[in-house]
This record gives sequence, structure tokens and C-alpha cells, in this order.
Amino acid sequence: MWQQPEAELLSLAEQELRKIGLLRDEKIAGGFVVRLPRTYPIYAGDYKHILSEIQTYIKQFENLQVVGRYGAFKYNNQDHSLLMGILAAQNVLNPGKHDLWEVNSDSEYVEEASVDAASATGKMPVPQ
Ligand SMILES: Cc1cc2nc3c(=O)[nH]c(=O)nc-3n(C[C@H](O)[C@H](O)[C@H](O)COP(=O)(O)OP(=O)(O)OC[C@H]3O[C@@H](n4cnc5c(N)ncnc54)[C@H](O)[C@@H]3O)c2cc1C
Repeated sequence: MWQQPEAELLSLAEQELRKIGLLRDEKIAGGFVVRLPRTYPIYAGDYKHILSEIQTYIKQFENLQVVGRYGAFKYNNQDHSLLMGILAAQNVLNPGKHDLWEVNSDSEYVEEASVDAASATGKMPVPQ
């Protein structure tokens, strides 16, 4: 797929958009393909051991925090990455308060969540 010609990928995208009902009889005006390398952290081989060596090395720097999908090499969704950012900001105000490596450490991919009363009123709960 990585090497497929642009026209074929555009055609595939069109078919899929029609299949899931986002497009019906509408015509496509245009499209383009962006090939972005290394967008997914790939957990292969002995990555945990290698990653733990890097974590240990990084931990010696008191004024350095690594966050996000690429900073932490975690299969984050956007919620995880935003949470890491919020917790990192809190660590600046209160050093050592949160262990950022603990965010998304259960390896579960969660796409569903329930809306509680706070978020239903538009007030996003911020971790304390
Ligand atoms: C195809 C795909 C589909 C996804 N679908 C979903 C989804 O449906 N729901 C969901 O919650 N998450 C989804 N994600 C995951 C989500 O995109 C990521 O979890 C989130 O964007 C990670 O945020 P981040 O801040 O870690 O990294 P990013 O959002 O990638 O931000 C990193 C930024 O750093 C910049 N950068 C990189 N190197 C340098 C450098 N040397 N100097 C300066 N800037 C640099 C990059 O240009 C980029 O802007 C998807 C990801 C992909 C790839």
C-alpha cells in the first residue's frame, strides 16, 4: 500500500467513504495523498527492554520531561497525549508529582468512554 500509486489510493478512499455512507452520489472534486513515515510506534522484538534503558537514561535529567506518542514511544491516542501534556505542566509547577511513564501503560486501546456529569456540562475534568 505504501508504494501504491496515488490514483489507486484515491480510488480506495472513495470506495471506503461510499461504503460507510459518508459519500453517496456526490462527485469527488479532488484529492491528494500524504505519505507520512513512522506514524505508529511499532512494538517489535525486545522493545520493552530497549525502551527501559532509554527511560533510565532520560530519568537522570531532572529538568527534562518526554511526552506524547513519539516522545514516550507509546501507542497513545489523542486523549493520552493531551493528558501527558497536562500532567507535564503540573510537574513544572510541582516537580515529581506525576510519573508520566504511567500514562497509557496498560497497553489497552480504548476508543469508548462514558460521559459523566462534569463533561456533559462542558467542564472537562482536569487531573489534580
Ligand atoms: C493514521 C492515524 C490515525 C489516528 N487516529 C486517531 C483517532 O481516531 N483517535 C485518537 O484519539 N488518536 C488517533 N491517532 C493518534 C493521535 O494522532 C496521536 O495520539 C496524537 O496526535 C499524538 O500527539 P503527540 O503530541 O504525541 O504527537 P503529534 O500530534 O504527532 O505532534 C508531534 C509534533 O511534533 C512535530 N515534530 C516532530 N519532530 C520535530 C522536531 N524535530 N522539531 C520540531 N517539531 C517536531 C511534528 O511535526 C508534530 O507536529 C491517530 C494517529 C494516526 C497516525
